[in-house]
Amino acid sequence: ESQLNPNYSFDNFLEGDSNRLARSAGLAVANKPGGTSFNPLLIFGGVGLGKTHLAHSIGVEIKDKYPEKTVLYISAEKFTQQYIESVKKNTRNDFIHFYQLIDVLIIDDVQFFSGKSGTQDVFFHIFNHLHQNGKQVILTSDKAPVDMQDIEQRLLSRFKWGLSAELQSPDYETRISILKNRLYRDGVEMPDEIINCVAQNIKTNVRELEGAIISLIAQSSFNHKEVTLELAQQVVEKFVKNTKREVSIDYIQKVISEYFSMDVETLQSKTRKRHIVQARQLAMFFAKKYTKASLASIGSQIGKRDHATVLHACKTVDNLAETDKQFRKYIDDLNKKFAQ
Ligand code: ADP
Ligand code: MG
Repeated sequence: ESQLNPNYSFDNFLEGDSNRLARSAGLAVANKPGGTSFNPLLIFGGVGLGKTHLAHSIGVEIKDKYPEKTVLYISAEKFTQQYIESVKKNTRNDFIHFYQLIDVLIIDDVQFFSGKSGTQDVFFHIFNHLHQNGKQVILTSDKAPVDMQDIEQRLLSRFKWGLSAELQSPDYETRISILKNRLYRDGVEMPDEIINCVAQNIKTNVRELEGAIISLIAQSSFNHKEVTLELAQQVVEKFVKNTKREVSIDYIQKVISEYFSMDVETLQSKTRKRHIVQARQLAMFFAKKYTKASLASIGSQIGKRDHATVLHACKTVDNLAETDKQFRKYIDDLNKKFAQ
C-alpha cells in the first residue's frame, strides 16, 4: 500500500510564482524518479502552503507513469512510531530492510525527526542505501535545512545534496485561482466581489483560504443563504481571528513580566510602584492591540481592573511613546515579540 491520496494531484495543485520552482521540480522528479539531480527533493514552507499536497502529487504521478515502482508516502511521525515499535519487538533489521526495498520514499514533515537520534540514525542508513541505488527520496519540512534544529549534521548535509525548494505564501492571483478552482470543482458560482474579498483577507495559508470558501459554499448550498459580501466578511474575519489568537492576554502578560524581570502576580498587583504600573499599562495596551478582547475583559484579566483603567492605560502608553525615548524602546522591543 502506497498510502497515497489520489485527490492530491498536479492538476489541482495550482501554479503561481509562490510555488513554481517546487512544483516544476516535483514534476521533473515524477517524470524521472531517481534520475534527476533533485535527490533528495526537499520541499519546505510554512503550515498550510501545500507541502503534503505536492508530495502526494509527485507520488501519484509516479505511480501513474511507472506502475511497477513501489512508492511509499509516510509522515515522519508515523515512521518514528514504526521504528520505535520495531526496536521493542526486536525487528529493527526488518524495518530497515523494508524501507531499503522502496523505489520512491516520501517522508512528510521531517522536522519531526528533531532530537530523535535513534530515528535519525536509522533514516540515515536507509537514505544512503536508497540514494546509492538510484532510488528517489522526497522530503517535506516546515523549515529550510539551514534552519533545522537538533538534526545531526550528517543528515542535514544529505538533505542539502539534492534540491531544497520553498513553497511561499501564494500571491493574490494564485489565491484567486485556488478559490475559483474550488468553486468550479464543487459546481458552485459566486460573484467576483465575494471571491476578491476572501482572497484579499486570507493571505498566508491555503488551508484557511479553502476553509473560508468551503464555509461559504456550505452556507449557500445547505443553508440556502444568499452569499452576500457581509456574510463573506464575517466568515473571513472568523478565519483571520482564529489564527491571530496565538497572542493571548495570558501570553502578553507572561512576555511583559519576563521582559521586566518580574512575575505575573507582581504585574497584576495593586502596587503603585512606577515601573510595575508601566508594565501593567503596557500589558493592557498590547492586549488591546493584539487581541479582540473588550476593554472590560482585558481589565478583568489583568489584575481585575475596570474598562476605564484600561482606556487610561492605553492613552498613557500612547503619550509616553511620544515623549519618553526609553519607553518608546520598550514598545518597539515588545512589538517585535507580538507582531507576526
Ligand atoms: P501543508 O502540508 O504545507 O501544511 P497541505 O498540503 O496540507 O499544506 O495544503 C493545505 C490545503 O491547501 C490542502 O487542502 C491543499 O490541497 C491546498 N493547497 C495548497 N496549495 C495549493 C495549490 N497551489 N493549489 C491548490 N490547492 C492547494
Ligand atoms: Mg502537511
